[in-house]
Amino acid sequence: MTTAFARTTTFVAARSRAHGPTAALWHAVEVHRHPSEVDGACELTLCGSLARISVEQAWPVADRDVCVSCVVLAG
Ligand SMILES: [Zn+2]
Repeated sequence: MTTAFARTTTFVAARSRAHGPTAALWHAVEVHRHPSEVDGACELTLCGSLARISVEQAWPVADRDVCVSCVVLAG
C-alpha cells in the first residue's frame, strides 16, 4: 500500500524555462497523484507559471535559483 501521497498535500519541484530576462527557476507544484505519474509533465506551479516536473528534485529545493513566490506559497 502506497497511500502516503494520497493523504497529504505533496509538493514536487518543477523547472521552468528561461524566459527573456528571467532565468530558469525551480518552482513548486502541488500534486495529488503519485509523483511517478507526473514526472516530466508540464504543470501549473503555485505562482501560476508553467514548469516541467522533476521528481528527482525534492521540494524544497536546496538551491539558489528557486522561485521566491513558490517558497512563500508552499509555506
Ligand atoms: Zn514559482
